[in-house]
This record gives sequence, structure tokens and C-alpha cells, in this order.
Amino acid sequence: MGLPAGFRVITEMTYTPSPLARGYTGKTLYVHVGSGKIESRPVTQQMRDVFIGGKGFGLWRLWNAVSPKTQWNDPENEIVIASGPVGGTTSYPGSGKSLVVSLSPLTGSVMDSNVGGYFGPYLKFSGWDALEVQGKTREDVVVFIDGTSGVVQLLACPKLDVNTHVLSETLMHAFAASDAPRDIAAVSTVTTGEGAEHTRWGCLNFSFFDLKRKAARIKQAGRGGIGTVFRDKGIAALVVRSPAVKPDSNAPADLSKLQGAGARINKEILELDEKQCDMRRVGTAHLVEIMDEYDLLPTHNYRFGSHPDASKIASSVWRQRFGQNMPDGCWIGCTMSCSHAVDDFPLRTGPYKGRRVLVDGPEYETAAGSANLGVFDPDFVLEMNFYCDTYGIDTISFTTGLAFVMECYEAGILDSTKTGGLELRFGNGDAALAILHQMAAGQGFGTVVGQGIRRMKDHFVREFGADRAFIDSIGMEAKGLEYSEYVTKESLAMQGGYGLALKGAQHDEAWLIFMDMVNNQIPTFEDKAEALHYFPMWRTWFGLVGHCKLPWNDIEPADNATTSAPAKVPEHVANYCEIFSGVTGIEVKPADLIRQSERVYNFQRAFNVRMGYGTRAHDRIPYRSAGPVTEAEYESRHDRYDKQLREKLGLDPAKMTTEAKVAALRAHREAQYEKLIDAVYKRRGWTADGVPTLAKLKELGIDFPEVVAVVQPHQ
Ligand code: SF4
Repeated sequence: MGLPAGFRVITEMTYTPSPLARGYTGKTLYVHVGSGKIESRPVTQQMRDVFIGGKGFGLWRLWNAVSPKTQWNDPENEIVIASGPVGGTTSYPGSGKSLVVSLSPLTGSVMDSNVGGYFGPYLKFSGWDALEVQGKTREDVVVFIDGTSGVVQLLACPKLDVNTHVLSETLMHAFAASDAPRDIAAVSTVTTGEGAEHTRWGCLNFSFFDLKRKAARIKQAGRGGIGTVFRDKGIAALVVRSPAVKPDSNAPADLSKLQGAGARINKEILELDEKQCDMRRVGTAHLVEIMDEYDLLPTHNYRFGSHPDASKIASSVWRQRFGQNMPDGCWIGCTMSCSHAVDDFPLRTGPYKGRRVLVDGPEYETAAGSANLGVFDPDFVLEMNFYCDTYGIDTISFTTGLAFVMECYEAGILDSTKTGGLELRFGNGDAALAILHQMAAGQGFGTVVGQGIRRMKDHFVREFGADRAFIDSIGMEAKGLEYSEYVTKESLAMQGGYGLALKGAQHDEAWLIFMDMVNNQIPTFEDKAEALHYFPMWRTWFGLVGHCKLPWNDIEPADNATTSAPAKVPEHVANYCEIFSGVTGIEVKPADLIRQSERVYNFQRAFNVRMGYGTRAHDRIPYRSAGPVTEAEYESRHDRYDKQLREKLGLDPAKMTTEAKVAALRAHREAQYEKLIDAVYKRRGWTADGVPTLAKLKELGIDFPEVVAVVQPHQ
């Protein structure tokens, strides 16, 4: 089969795809888009033993590619994509995830982002455990990996519309062996869009072909601006064409073990999902009304946790809008199938105005982000969701960043003369969409907003005389990454979940709100520290092996509540031991899986230290995530806060001004956060400044000379 019209081979490498053995191909693929170098690299035994796969492989390859001086936009920076040994399994739900690792334009340090879609498993079935892309080129290129004929090509490409909904569909058809749907479905792409070029919020879209709709679908590696790195490198797309997927494509050591565990959880999902989270019908969007009920749904830049209009964007709305009323999986065999889409949505703004499009989502985070802007209109949510995706912009950073802008506007820091005429007030969905289109075009105030909250804060102080203390308190970012969509004021553990997450303020290390504030299961500092050790280890583990978090605890066995540790879902933890040993042939217990994670987790922290971050100063959080910044915010929940002043601090709120009450509560809560950090560092085996101790590295077997050299000066 020849190349699609307009493409030209710059360099290529032919190869014989290594047969898979127990979840690994034993090779990773390296492509330098600047020099055209393409090579196969071996997976060493140390990589398997210490780094396992997925995020572990990504971190190790990146560590060896960069120096402490490397910036996100230097050619040396890499984008590494890897699934993991379990990735590509079709017998157990949620086994198709990939992890993407790079230096972030938002944080300057190491970023990891997990994503569904078919690219990661297809990459592996095409002979590669990971893909490492380095270098920069001025003209757009496509990297094409053909696992059916054993060739990797770096291609110069014709002028393309890089926006994802156009490009992914175009390339999936162009690189398919024929027009037959099964051949199109054998192709997966990684793309982003124009917004990634002009902001630091670029995401990557991983595609899969939906055989029901006969259309390209996408899932996002959303966090940390890796799409921005992608476009900065001059990459238009990565394309893989895979051999046919079979139940034993991953060559597991014991397929029957996987099938046994898979049959158990599939039965649970089919029998219980509808009564529990109903992921198969509404996906994560079911959380909107739950968060609203518990005062955890961010509205108006996290000032409040509920809103009378929340029902307008709640799950009942999405249940009606989601197409075909049937489950949608982002990898083959995922019975949880939570990746829903809205069909035939008419766009009313932007360059594709008037077209009817497929919208992948919304997920909870996107709908909740809209609440954070004070916009409770489902059509806005879908329009914003579509354009963020196709422009390659992370919906979380976009909504959290714009919520910050809106609060600055309402506080008088901004006005329409500074925003190019846009009235960026809460609730103004039209202005929000206008900013989004400006970001894609690289025009107007959108270019300022797209730099992210951390850089906007500096800009607003420098250019508009904003009060530094105020905007530091309300700008919801940690380590430079915008918060995802949960109000954490009443959950100290969740404040730690955000502030102590290695990559920045994302909930995918620890989501402890319910355990902490609803169920009161972790009352002491030591309990919270233990949770902030234990739960990130599972999230890390999923990212090492290529597994999705959702089938862990968004479905629970019928008797889970009667077990000794319901929050840990012991039956599913037992399943993970089965699937790891079923794939790799290595017998493991839960403690072994935790240890696998702990090694990589501590390595990632050391990597942050190496890049000039990774210490206590970088684990700070904005006060808005710990308590009320303004008097209006305090007064909106004054019963709750007054009670705490009385019971926890022995103060009499009746004798205090609101200003004094805000200050007293703040002093208390900030001190509590510092105590929490002390407890967590101690539990994790880190110094008081948050650096892994030499003893910890030794215990974990990652006291490699180059890692020791990084942490030694901090002991
Ligand atoms: S549970 Fe949802 S996100 Fe996870 S693999 Fe299945 S469809 Fe994808």
C-alpha cells in the first residue's frame, strides 16, 4: 500500500515486530523528528524489574534524555508514550490505558497524563513497549508505525487542518489498509490542535474507531500541556496501524487466570453498575449532582460548592443526550464502558459553526468546570467540550483558568479595556467561548489566559497592579498545574491529595474527600498520612501496568461494605494480583504491587528534585483550597465556620468581625496543612523538606548512583 497523497518519506526503518511474551515486546521505539533518526532500543531486565512499564518506562527514558537544565521547549525534551504489561488485555475491563510523560510547559518539571483510546495497545501489538519522540522540526511531520508490515516512517505532510476532529478522521481513513470499517479500526492516531500551539494547555487526543457510529472517537491525555510540547516539536500526528487484536495478543502467561478474574468483575458490572454509579449509562457525569449535594461542586472559582442551577447540567440531562443509549468503551472488552458521546450536536460558534458534530463527553470534570464558570447550560458545556478537544486544549485547565480570570474581573483587577472588550463575568458563556476561539487563533486576551494561572498571576500583578496576596490565594494552581474540579475546603486530606501530588493539582493520585469528610474514616493526621501514602500507590500502579482506575472502586462487589477495608475494595485488589501474574507469570501479593509503585513514585519525586522542584516549597497550595478567602465566602457558610471557631479554636464568633473570623480560620487551617505535610513526609520516608531519604531509596532498591547524587545534597 502506498502513502496517502501529499505525504513524503523523510526517513524510515524496517523492522521485524518482536513477538509479545508475557505482556512485553522487549523493545522501545525512538524517533528524533529533527534529525530523522529512528531506532529500536532494548528493554532491559532492570527496566522491567524496577520500572514495570507505562509511566515507569516513560520516566526512565525521559530521565536519560534530559539534564537538569532542559526546558520543556528544548529539543532534548521527549514525549514518551507507553501502555504497560497488562495494557492490551481484552479479558479484564479497563486494560487499555497508556501513560504519556514529558517535561511540562506549565510546571517546568515532570508531567504524566493517562489516557484511553487504542494507540498504546496498538503500539505494543506493533512491536513496541514504548515510543520515545525527541527533537524539533520546523515543518509538520507525521510519525507512522505500521505493525502490519514492520516499518516506521517519519513523513513530511501536506498542509493539514491540525484540529483533532478533522485530522484524526482524515488520518485513520488515509492510513487504513482499505475502506472497510475493520481496517479503519486497526488504525489509531495521536493528535492535538491549534489551541495547543498558542497556549500552555495543550492536550493529546488518542483515537479509536467507533464501529457502531463508524466515526473516530477520542480520549484525552489532558493534563500538563503535553499537547503544547507535541506542536512545539512540529508533530502533526502519530499514527499506528496494528495487526488484528485477539484475546491472547498480549501473550499472557495464563490466559485462563485473566478470564477468570474478568468473568467475576464483568458479572459485578452487569448486575450492579446500574444500582451503583451507572457508569454504563452516564459515565463520570453522574458525579455532578453528588458533588453538588455534598457542597463539593466548584462554582464561581471554587468559592462555593453547590448551586441552585446544578440540576441543569446533572446526569439526568446527559442520560438523555448521550447517543444510542448504549455503553461506549475506550478499549476492547471494557464492560464498564463509560466513554459516552453526544451525536449530531449543532455548533453555534467558531470556525466550524453550523456543522453537526460528535462530542466525546462530557466527563464530570468538564461539566463541573462549566459550573466553576457559573454557566449551567448543557449546550455551552457541549460546545466548550467539543472545541477544547478539537483545538487540543485541556478542559480542566481551561475552565479553572478562566474561573480565575472571571473572579479577577469581578474583583476589578480586570475590565473590558484589558480583555479586548470581553465581559468576562461569571455566567457569561459567550465570552468564555470567545476566549477559547482566541486561544486557538493565537489572538487577543486568549493568549494571556492560555499561559495558565501561574503566569497570569505575574502578568496581572505586573501589568494591572493586582494585589499579590489576593491573587495567590484565589488562583487555583499548585506547582503550576490548574486544579481539577473538587472543592476541598472541608477535607484536609484532599487538600493534601492535591498539594502533594507529584505532578501538580490533579486528583488522580488520591481522591479522599468522601473518606475524609463524609465517612470520617481517616480522622487523625496519621490516618490521613497513611491514606496519602496508600491510595497514590494504587493510582501509580494502574499507570505502570496500563490499567484504568475506574473499575477499581467505581464498581464494588455486593459484599464490599462488609469487608475489613471497604475503601480499598479488597476483592478487586486480589483481582489485580491475578491479572499481573496472569500476564507476566510473576506471582505477587498486594504488598508487592504497592512496592512496585513506591519505587517509581519515589523515583519521580527524585526526578522533580533533579529538575529544581520536588521540595516542600513546591507542595504549597492556594488558600482558596483550604478555606474562605473573602468575607462573602465566609458569610455564605457562616454557620459551619462559626461552629469551627467555637469548637476547634475556643473563640466566640459573636464578638468578632467577619474579617477577624476569616483571619483566625485561615491561620488555623494553614497550620493544619503544614502538620499534615509533616505527617505525610514522615510516612513516605522523606526528609522534612520533602525529599526521599537515602535510606528510603536503598530500601526500595533505587539507590542508583545518579539518583543518590540528586538527593544527597538535600539530606
Ligand atoms: S472504565 Fe471507562 S475510561 Fe476506563 S477503560 Fe473503561 S471505558 Fe475507558
